Amino acid sequence: MSSRASEALARRLIDSQAERRGDDPIFALNAEAARRARSGEDVLNSTLGTLLDESGRLALIPTVSDAFARIAPERAAAYAPIAGAPAFLEAVLADAFGASALARSAIAVATPGGTGALSLSVACFLEPGQSVLTSSYYWSPYETIAHQAGRALETFEMFAPDGSLNVSALDRALVRSGERQGRTLLFLNTPCHNPTGYSLDERDWNELVPVLARAAERQRLTLLVDVAYARFGRGDPRRWVAPLAPLAERATLLVAWSASKAFTQYGARVGACIALEQDPAERERIRSALGYACRGTWSNCNHLGMLAIAECLTDPTLSARVERERAGLRELLFERARLFSALARDARLSHPRYEGGFFVTVFTSAPERAAALMRERGVFVVPIAGAVRVALCSTPLAAIPRLVDALSAGVRGAAS
Ligand code: PLP
Repeated sequence: MSSRASEALARRLIDSQAERRGDDPIFALNAEAARRARSGEDVLNSTLGTLLDESGRLALIPTVSDAFARIAPERAAAYAPIAGAPAFLEAVLADAFGASALARSAIAVATPGGTGALSLSVACFLEPGQSVLTSSYYWSPYETIAHQAGRALETFEMFAPDGSLNVSALDRALVRSGERQGRTLLFLNTPCHNPTGYSLDERDWNELVPVLARAAERQRLTLLVDVAYARFGRGDPRRWVAPLAPLAERATLLVAWSASKAFTQYGARVGACIALEQDPAERERIRSALGYACRGTWSNCNHLGMLAIAECLTDPTLSARVERERAGLRELLFERARLFSALARDARLSHPRYEGGFFVTVFTSAPERAAALMRERGVFVVPIAGAVRVALCSTPLAAIPRLVDALSAGVRGAAS
């Protein structure tokens, strides 16, 4: 046998999987930062999306940890129902919609984090080979999730020149996608978008909803709202609910709900895919399709996590304590954001308006170069198309001046 033929026989991975990068680029940068820190360097690591306290330790909501500890082992060890523990699902719907009447046409299935919900939506609402649509700044695993499912990702320009959501660009992208695919699955991460910290405001919603309603007359439209950071924004975490009501008749609305950030339980992998559908028969078909996809992907989710988070959501004493403890963490984040915005303004760095969440982005035409220059100073951020992403969540207040100095040097150095 020729050596080429034997090489081909030895490659048993299918072609589409043969050149995959197993290490997420953000985790790879984090590993480099950790390695340099271990060798004694004074490193500032602003890459990773977990909330750290001022001494660099994982910030927890203690009441949530207590709730996990109190679940009886024999309840936690049993399999959960495939679609999720009923009390958990009911609590998630109440958490997502509050008193809104929209909840009446909603169903939910449990997923491993918000990631699981995103992945189910792609499997059930796009044909193989079709593309998910999202904004030009986006959480990079959106693309991984699409590719892994044999789908693709395309984007629309996120910001208009005045810094608001570029609804005209989205309108054009919807037309293109509808003509090509006959359907669109649109991911919108709001409030507190990762990576920009932007939240759609009333004006954005007022412009957006008619555009979506028009699109839904020409094609099958599914809008997924990714609310992963909603509890770390300013104001009402449910402010996305009311503007969506007029759309509910015309499109399927999905919500990727996650306990990872809201309850500081990133490792518990607790989440849910919520679907809003007015037609009861179609709603049941969606429930079945999502449940089937759960069974065929991960079977069922972390029972301990669901039981504990359900307690935190439904027990009035626990939920008030969680709320209070979370408010302290939110304030920590806002204090960092206030200092960052003030110093960034003085340094004339350009960034979208920040309204909460774990990240900000700083625009630059040469993100890889800017991030490399910053790494020479021991400061780690994530280069993305057109910007660098800065994790305020993992940057202590005292380190913000150093961060902004490095950003300023990196962005200016890269442009020259
Ligand atoms: N959506 C966005 C925008 C995120 O940044 C994340 C996590 O970083 C997720 C969803 C999902 O997180 P998880 O799967 O941990 O719930």
